Amino acid sequence: MDMGIAGKKALVCASSKGLGLACARALAAEGVDLVMNARGAEALEAAAAAIRDEFGVSVTAVAADITADEGRERVLKAAGPVDILVTNAGGPPPGLWSDWEREDFIKALDGNMLTPIALIKALVPGMIDRGWGRVVNITSQAVKAPLGVLGLSNTARTGLTGYVAGTSRQVAGSGVNINNLLPGIHYTDRSKSLDADVSKEKGISMAEAEALRCKTIPAGRYGYPEEFGAMCAFLCSQHAGFIVGQNILLDGGSVNATL
Ligand code: NAP
Repeated sequence: MDMGIAGKKALVCASSKGLGLACARALAAEGVDLVMNARGAEALEAAAAAIRDEFGVSVTAVAADITADEGRERVLKAAGPVDILVTNAGGPPPGLWSDWEREDFIKALDGNMLTPIALIKALVPGMIDRGWGRVVNITSQAVKAPLGVLGLSNTARTGLTGYVAGTSRQVAGSGVNINNLLPGIHYTDRSKSLDADVSKEKGISMAEAEALRCKTIPAGRYGYPEEFGAMCAFLCSQHAGFIVGQNILLDGGSVNATL
């Protein structure tokens, strides 16, 4: 299927690895020029070079912390006007509900709620003026089904979801579609570190930790980043013009819910 977005320009945040990189690659495969971002310059430059070589699109790489005002300003300045925005950043750390203080919540809200909101506020007005735009926010399955130890993530991402629910309906009439992609467990560095924690805690191998987690997933496996990237490209495509403010769960059936 032709996504109809060749020649568009996308800012994909936190995209040197994992799900962000998968989204960047899927957009590049559709002929979209990219602005990529991550904090570590080395992995970012390598990912950008690989995409230029493989897909022949233009890629600007900006090493910066997207959750910091200074970093975000540099990314936005380098990007200029874009047609597509994919927001992403690392998730907050796990912990216990009774231990988190105000500062912990402020940090989580800054990273996973106020950063995507700031990016939307900076870039969507231009999309409205030009009459076309797509925004995809990478959130988490935790929005649909809370994960106890990830209370900071549950809180911040649900706040963003509420903002998107209202905002997406205000801008849809201008040809701008904002939606959220909710990953369940995928094969990335993040899942490796989660498996390493289980392996250490239970004294089992990494393969056993993965097998244990797979038992909780009806699909019987983790998701592949390529599958996630493909859905992102579809949500950014011409075909997604009637999809507004939705939360698309990619979790192999882990969230046991009818709707
Ligand atoms: P990952 O494999 O660890 O990759 C994270 C990427 O984001 C890296 O490129 C990293 O590069 C960049 N990054 C992190 N913090 C950043 C920041 N402040 N500014 C700019 N770039 C930043 O993670 P992932 O698995 O793709 O996860 C992406 C998001 O999905 C996270 O929020 C995660 O919590 C959420 N999620 C993931 C899963 C899963 O199974 N993978 C499940 C549910 C939710 P640098 O470190 O160099 O900055």
